[in-house]
Amino acid sequence: MAEKRDYYDVLGVSRDADDETIKKAYKKLAKQYHPDLNPDSKTAESKFKEINEAYEILSDNNSRARYDQFGHNDPMGGAGGYGGNPFGGAGNPFGGSFGGGFGDIFETFFGGGFTQQQRDPNAPSRGNDMRVDMQVSFEEAARGVDKEISVSRYEGCVKCHGSGAKPGTGREKCAGCGGSGRVRTTQSTPFGQFQTVKTCPRCAGSGSVIKEPCPDCGGSGRMRKNRKLVVHVPAGVDNGSRLRMAGEGEGGKNGGPAGDLFIYISVRPHKLFKRDGDHVFLEQPISFVEAALGAAIEVPTLDGAVKLDIPEGTQTATTFRLRGRGFPKLRGYGRGDQYVKVKVVTPTHLNAEQKEILRRLGDGTGDDKKGFFGKIFKDR
Ligand SMILES: [Zn+2]
Ligand SMILES: [Zn+2]
Repeated sequence: MAEKRDYYDVLGVSRDADDETIKKAYKKLAKQYHPDLNPDSKTAESKFKEINEAYEILSDNNSRARYDQFGHNDPMGGAGGYGGNPFGGAGNPFGGSFGGGFGDIFETFFGGGFTQQQRDPNAPSRGNDMRVDMQVSFEEAARGVDKEISVSRYEGCVKCHGSGAKPGTGREKCAGCGGSGRVRTTQSTPFGQFQTVKTCPRCAGSGSVIKEPCPDCGGSGRMRKNRKLVVHVPAGVDNGSRLRMAGEGEGGKNGGPAGDLFIYISVRPHKLFKRDGDHVFLEQPISFVEAALGAAIEVPTLDGAVKLDIPEGTQTATTFRLRGRGFPKLRGYGRGDQYVKVKVVTPTHLNAEQKEILRRLGDGTGDDKKGFFGKIFKDR
């Protein structure tokens, strides 16, 4: 094996060069000696390898430090050092592995389109997912509902089964690329002229074109259709719930499967009820008398009116729970609860007799307010 050149010499940089300088030098040399630009040149190939090896070491601070100390005779060099594959570099600035071909490096230098791998456009591919927004009422969210929607989507053409070719006709070799799917163009760059290979625009890289387009879809293999679908909205949906209808999205290409349809739910607010998770909250006004004496009142719930016993002496803002009167749990069994917060309404428009009764009530021993002030001033 020939004597290894000094890595700094290989890249043509000084020993105290900073990372940026090293990177620049490497890019310049890598372009110059790239095998794609120097076909059949063994010298260029070995130069290119040497450059990459040098860069791999010098671009990594740890391996550079070791190299500075030990040169090419690193005692650790055989194991995990820089004796390994120069193309698998963790330190290469292009992220990708060089093992997959030289496309990456040229994409970085020249903005792509050099030797990109193109997937076969005639291969079956899955259709796009679609999104539909749907509004439901508070009650519909609680009970569940079936709603009809109409969607406008691409579907695979029935006549040609998505091939785009008139039934009974096939495909023929693309005249644009002679069947290779690629076309060569000569590109001028600051580094000189060289050839680039691009995907054939006529056949989109497939190498073949249809002889006669399908009369139904005009050769696209798909048709836009308006469809009416029934969405089963389950009980318990909330704002932001997302329903999926598998296979109801856009049709696939070339016989591929259809995408899915996603329905995004928003629930209209209710004039009485509020919701938090599976629970329902209600503020229920009760009269002063009902609060004082107790009463059996009716409160609205998602299931209609339900009896609620108000014990005597109930204070305003007291909250009662109605078990199982909330929303059905979307995942799992059972329902949330309904919370009823009572609001004691102070009477207005009292007649003289009623006022007199209240005055006498206010003088009574059961008046909490009097007791309250009594406690405050007790210590004086
Ligand atoms: Zn068709
Ligand atoms: Zn072509």
